[in-house]
Amino acid sequence: MNDLSPFPRLAARLTRPGRIRLAKACVPVALLTDDVPDDARVDRNGSALVDILIEDGRIATITAALADGGDDTVALDGRHVWPLLIDAHAHLDKGHTMGRAPDSGGTHPGARAATTADRLAHWNAEDLLRRMEFGLATADAHGVAAIRTHLDSHEGQAEITWNAFAKVRERWKGRIVLQAAGLVPLDAYSGDYGARLADIVAGHGGLLGGVTRASGGTHGSGLDDIDLLLDQLFVLAKERELEVDLHVDEAAQADALPHVARAAIRHGYEGRVTCGHCCSLALLGERELRDTIALIADAGLSLITLPTVNMYLQDREAGRTPRWRGVTPVQELRAAGIPVASAGDNCRDPFFAYGDHDMLDTWRQAVRILHLDHPYADAPALAGPAPAGIMGIDAGTIGVGRPADLMILEAWSLDQVISRPHADRVILRKGMLANRALPSYSTLADFLTA
Ligand SMILES: [Zn+2]
Repeated sequence: MNDLSPFPRLAARLTRPGRIRLAKACVPVALLTDDVPDDARVDRNGSALVDILIEDGRIATITAALADGGDDTVALDGRHVWPLLIDAHAHLDKGHTMGRAPDSGGTHPGARAATTADRLAHWNAEDLLRRMEFGLATADAHGVAAIRTHLDSHEGQAEITWNAFAKVRERWKGRIVLQAAGLVPLDAYSGDYGARLADIVAGHGGLLGGVTRASGGTHGSGLDDIDLLLDQLFVLAKERELEVDLHVDEAAQADALPHVARAAIRHGYEGRVTCGHCCSLALLGERELRDTIALIADAGLSLITLPTVNMYLQDREAGRTPRWRGVTPVQELRAAGIPVASAGDNCRDPFFAYGDHDMLDTWRQAVRILHLDHPYADAPALAGPAPAGIMGIDAGTIGVGRPADLMILEAWSLDQVISRPHADRVILRKGMLANRALPSYSTLADFLTA
């Protein structure tokens, strides 16, 4: 923050509990839990000018903006106010291994091999806790409300990782809501280990997950018995009342998604299955895409797009510039009423060398990559209400009675929200100033020589 920033003055007002009125806050309508208050002005971006009254950490009222004034008032003068955002697809167990893990070459097969080598060499409880804590402290500093992480759950690794996850979930309780899904290649469910893994997941209140490729294989090949494998997974899930979250078709050419949809219908799991990635949908012909989207809708699947990681891994060949974006057709899916969230996925690991667990940054990139603008319409929903719905949690929106978990941005329009990284955002948790410093990379310095 420089001396000209009004933020120190704003922030100083937000350190006392009690009653605070955020006057003239600009909130995207897509992020409001309830209808726009009567008489509130809505701008051309679809954002409403409102006063938000906070009492004892909760939002007491949201009304049309009135004149500034009053002892309890923090004048925002039309600055954007957002809820804390939700990352519904992450990999906290893989994160922050850059420098230590072998170089992946930036390809999907390379990333798998590099991750396997790093996992076998290093992933004990201490290492997992240290890297998960680094990731969570980073997300916390950026104002993330909730994360669903996938956890590599191979035989011999699962107990170690899930126990470490249980510890960080307990430690971050009340600050970041954490969910986890077990991640293994689909054929892991065909043997005895499938049931054991499902028991571990159930014991931790997790989700049954998997990736629609064979062990050691790539997306789009080697799963001739996919229907049988999906049946085994769904039976294990149903026996334990577990929701399902899968990595699906993370490639230009792959066709597991219709199989997943039909399995969800076969097992009565409509509305209980999330599919991440689904990149190959983008390269289907128009008619096939329409039919597949109709099937996804029938199956009640939710989709999560991971645009930063898809752009990094897809269509990569050494010495050749990528020709396609690698992202799923989000606009067509949303138009068909399918719940779609954007999420961060990998962070500084062999699957994605970059990232910082910043959902505002992920959303800003998603808008540009997926053309969710002109008009913006309800694009902000991808980072708040949509992932909240997928995770089944009360967060990611601004509404009366909700905790005042908010971000105040130095921006007066959505184009300004999207243009800058907003490293100077003010973060409120339960109505109190909650900004924390990012953890320093220096704490991971030993990885660079490992
Ligand atoms: Zn993933």
